[in-house]
Amino acid sequence: MRLTVLGCGDAFGNGARNNSAFLLSDENEHVLVDCGATTLIRLKHESIALEDISTIIISHFHGDHYGGIPFFLISSLFEETRKSPLTIVGPANIKEKIFQLQEAMYAGTGEKLDQLDITYLEYGRDPIEFADKKLIAKPVEHSPPSIPHGVRLEWKNKVFAFSGDTSWTDNLLELSAGAHLFICECNFLHEQAFGHLCYDELVERKDQLMCENVWLSHMGTEMLNQEISVFNKLTDGMKIEF
Ligand SMILES: [Zn+2]
Repeated sequence: MRLTVLGCGDAFGNGARNNSAFLLSDENEHVLVDCGATTLIRLKHESIALEDISTIIISHFHGDHYGGIPFFLISSLFEETRKSPLTIVGPANIKEKIFQLQEAMYAGTGEKLDQLDITYLEYGRDPIEFADKKLIAKPVEHSPPSIPHGVRLEWKNKVFAFSGDTSWTDNLLELSAGAHLFICECNFLHEQAFGHLCYDELVERKDQLMCENVWLSHMGTEMLNQEISVFNKLTDGMKIEF
């Protein structure tokens, strides 16, 4: 399994980083985790055909995490005339939220989404099993109207976990237990605030995490400028085999 970091920035573009988007790939299929506003540009940079992306997983309804969906979908409609099925998984009302965003950004294209073969799946208490994938989503601590979740994807004998945007919650322990790769947000260096994590707290909780391969994302300026010795920092364009 290969991770390509399409974007690991925060909501403000600090470090000139792209919005949240992580591409998981095996030989002939891609799964996109988060689709922030800059994602289509980064997919073109990596020469990835959108129709080879079978699945999009959305952590929560903030623009730096799902604002790229309308660009993805108009390219699928008008450039690719996509025929291959697409599964979009996300929080409650995902279909309606995507329709609303599509209409807000490209008025008149919402109804054209019916021309695409899209299956919408909503997070619930139980794991979601589809095709050869198993997805577990757990609520996390971030702006409640964004319906924030962290996710754990089991696919091709690999486990990938992603915190989404959150301050500390024990749900992160469950999501990341035994994961081959865990991407954890780390917005702040020292500041402890609702909605985001800080490095100090993650270091304190390191021994609680049952996961060796932890990579940090969604870093603000202070965190970007700080050299760290525990965990690893992601950068845009990075590729990790796991
Ligand atoms: Zn964010």
